[in-house]
Amino acid sequence: MVRRRTTPPDTVPPTPHNEEPDDLHVRVIRSARRKRTVSARLINWYTLEVRAPADLPEEALQRIIARFRETARRRRAGMRSYGSDADLQRRAERLNATLFGGAARWRSIRYVTNQNTRWGSCTPSRGTIRISHRLATRPDFVLDYVIVHELAHLLEPGHTPAFWELVYRYPRAERAIGYLMALGHEGAAIDDPISPED
Ligand SMILES: [Zn+2]
Repeated sequence: MVRRRTTPPDTVPPTPHNEEPDDLHVRVIRSARRKRTVSARLINWYTLEVRAPADLPEEALQRIIARFRETARRRRAGMRSYGSDADLQRRAERLNATLFGGAARWRSIRYVTNQNTRWGSCTPSRGTIRISHRLATRPDFVLDYVIVHELAHLLEPGHTPAFWELVYRYPRAERAIGYLMALGHEGAAIDDPISPED
């Protein structure tokens, strides 16, 4: 359940640091030459670079950064959501070929914004997969995990041992499950179990 955009900014592979639930790192550069203005730009998917006057009080800077951070998160969500259903389709095809030998068949996979209590859902009888837009700003490996989870339901509707055998063919399944569990405190409930323990 996630998105990308057509031309990502310098996309970097997730590292342990930026896999934190809030994966936007803010880098502050103070400059004596800068007078009153503070500027910010996303230098890659995970890093917001903020330039500020050397003498700007820290408290004022933090308030400005909080606004920049919010803007950056919305921008990243927009970048991923733009044209994202096609991206979902490409990802699903690639994962299906790699992990399931192309065995899964579906009619549609798309993002939805009305799915606030689950990350993803699948209706095997109709071959439809829906992915929550809330995954828009999460790392790719988390998105891919949710896609794999829903694809696996096409082959095995229940959360059976056979289902989890399929899911764990995705090498980063364990890490993605941990990531999603860490988001639990944000009210990001998992509708359907994301791990065998659920
Ligand atoms: Zn499930």
